[in-house]
Amino acid sequence: MATDAAAPHQRVCEAPGCKLAGEYRAPRSRDDLNTYRWFCLQHVREYNKKWDYFAGLDAGQIEAHIRADTTWRRPVWPLGARRQNGPYVRIHDPLDLADDAGLGERPAAKQMDGSELLTPAERTALDVLELSWPSTQADVKSRYKELVKIHHPDANGGAREAEEKLKEINAAYSTLRASENLPLE
Ligand SMILES: [Zn+2]
Repeated sequence: MATDAAAPHQRVCEAPGCKLAGEYRAPRSRDDLNTYRWFCLQHVREYNKKWDYFAGLDAGQIEAHIRADTTWRRPVWPLGARRQNGPYVRIHDPLDLADDAGLGERPAAKQMDGSELLTPAERTALDVLELSWPSTQADVKSRYKELVKIHHPDANGGAREAEEKLKEINAAYSTLRASENLPLE
């Protein structure tokens, strides 16, 4: 019988007497942020509440920790906590618990305007219809009508070029009409 070595998903909460799954981790200590204790949700919350990250440090050391954290890691305290709690700041990070990725910068949040959802074919189709983002299905429809009038072979003496252009416009139009990435209006 080799059931003692629990697999990660079978961890049991480390709180004495608790039989729940230990699904949440907390750093073991300030000097050892990379090994963890494992708790159930309730006990990880209690553990974090009791755990004083800066216990035993004097004001200068705390200052140094905070400065290090703000310059090369993310802050470990919520805004305003320092003022409320004086020099002792508690860590408030119950679920994320110290950066998984560890150190380094997080990528800057990208500006999302909906255009990031467009497929390359949809982008090309917008170009063909001479539309820029943001464009709606209503824009597509009215631009299509305009372009069909301009490029219709009948309006161009049956010119072969106009016919080709119209095909391109038709294809772009069907691509965009079928798209779920354009707002209706
Ligand atoms: Zn527990």
